[in-house]
Amino acid sequence: MDFRFTPEQEAFRDSVRRFAEKHLAPGALARAHAAEYPWDVSQLMAKQGLLGITIAEADGGQGGALMDAVIAIETVASVCPRSADVVQAGNFGPIRVLAEYGSSPQKERYLKRLLAGEGVISVGMTEPEAGSAVTDLTTSATADGAGYRINGAKVFTTHAPYADVILAYVRFGPGVGGIGSVLVDTKSPGVRFGQRSTFMSGEEWAQIYFESVYVPPEMVVLKEGGFKKQIAGFNVERIGNTSRSLALGRYAYERAREWAMQRRQFGRLLCEFQGLQWKFADMKMKLDAGQLLLYRAAANADRGFPSAEETAIAKAYCNQAGFDVANEALQVMGGLGYSQEALVEYCVRRCRGWMIAGGSIEILKNRIAEAVFERTFSQRPGA
Ligand SMILES: Cc1cc2nc3c(=O)[nH]c(=O)nc-3n(C[C@H](O)[C@H](O)[C@H](O)COP(=O)(O)OP(=O)(O)OC[C@H]3O[C@@H](n4cnc5c(N)ncnc54)[C@H](O)[C@@H]3O)c2cc1C
Repeated sequence: MDFRFTPEQEAFRDSVRRFAEKHLAPGALARAHAAEYPWDVSQLMAKQGLLGITIAEADGGQGGALMDAVIAIETVASVCPRSADVVQAGNFGPIRVLAEYGSSPQKERYLKRLLAGEGVISVGMTEPEAGSAVTDLTTSATADGAGYRINGAKVFTTHAPYADVILAYVRFGPGVGGIGSVLVDTKSPGVRFGQRSTFMSGEEWAQIYFESVYVPPEMVVLKEGGFKKQIAGFNVERIGNTSRSLALGRYAYERAREWAMQRRQFGRLLCEFQGLQWKFADMKMKLDAGQLLLYRAAANADRGFPSAEETAIAKAYCNQAGFDVANEALQVMGGLGYSQEALVEYCVRRCRGWMIAGGSIEILKNRIAEAVFERTFSQRPGA
């Protein structure tokens, strides 16, 4: 076992860092507080080969491994936390499911634009009555000629207000086996957005209504029976979410570390107070432990999807660790940490959301417990 990067991975990390320092460091603070998607960053990243890192070269990607994408997202986040969202959208999210299961016409129509950094794709799973219990979703796909009519509503969909297309989880029939997915073009007749709302992170979302939206047959990604495959692909999204939790925790930690070595109170540097040294020791242990769990899940996936169990362990741990570390870093920086002059408060707000998004910590722990006892535990009454 070797805990070091290979020379190729080190060279890749260095090239991403040079790119980030040149193009993303300027404006990092303003970017974090802007509501709109950073399209300029997205196009720069496309040119740099940072979108589609794990997507096959035949599909316009880079043909790399999941670990490469993790190195990219962490390195970008260490310079510009907000820009890491672009790495997420272009590598870890529904784009990966589209690349894996999508047909040639689907890829032709959408993947090219996404990989050029000119558009984004959202995933619409969550509904008003189906959050953690996502298999309770009711958005229906009813046959209409060769295609389908989609009816239902989705909530909390990241990037939805400006996405080109939504990978929508829909129900073709009853039960878990009836769930599949379709690509809904956001400009299709019958797609309607509700009032915009804002998460604590500053990101905007809006409820999406599908009112008898026609989806042609070539835009079905997975028919009924596709749920397991979709969740397997969704584990990649979870790895991106895990990486950002840890990376933003580390970003805040680095700012607090620098601050503790220059800020004096009572005539001494902050780093000379044992009460603060122990906070740093705890932060460092959490970051290092999370890093190993994240790298295990990513490295074992190689060019495929990561294991559900290793992903759940990494995500549950890193979501909590990233938030705890960012929060402690804020405390160490006092009023400055709490202020928008530094990005530390931003890291706290973002990390808080990932404890809920993409499978909450509680739901992931349920999954881990199933692995521990090698059996399932239905969460439903009377089961
Ligand atoms: C920042 C952010 C981005 C998001 N982006 C997207 C997106 O792009 N696409 C999308 O489809 N959705 C998205 N979501 C929605 C997200 O997937 C849901 O919020 C999440 O699945 C939880 O669902 P819920 O909010 O309805 O909470 P609920 O399911 O109502 O849960 C409420 C609380 O109860 C706990 N809980 C529920 N069931 C159990 C159980 N069996 N055991 C123990 N605890 C339980 C949960 O962990 C949670 O703490 C996003 C959410 C956030 C916060």
